[in-house]
Amino acid sequence: MPRTPEKNGQRPPKKIPMRQCLGCREMKPKKELLRVVRSPEGEISLDLKGRANGRGAYVCKNAECLKRAAKSRAPARALGAAVPEDIMAELKRLMEASDE
Ligand SMILES: [Zn+2]
Repeated sequence: MPRTPEKNGQRPPKKIPMRQCLGCREMKPKKELLRVVRSPEGEISLDLKGRANGRGAYVCKNAECLKRAAKSRAPARALGAAVPEDIMAELKRLMEASDE
């Protein structure tokens, strides 16, 4: 797509923040992903609003990607710590709930 020069002081459209899913490795809009965050205190939790401080890891809202992410070391690498079982279970539950 060719870049059109700005006219009449119009701003280019806002960029959608993209993040990489740890399951399929695709870049997706942040909104379509679930975020797991490791706080500066080292606590790992789900960040449903996407605003918590700390290092984040993202995965698509589907069970397949979660499974793939869980099998790999990607979440641990992204967060610098292993994701606790209960967080993984919670993620799974959320995905099953939204997977209607
Ligand atoms: Zn994915």
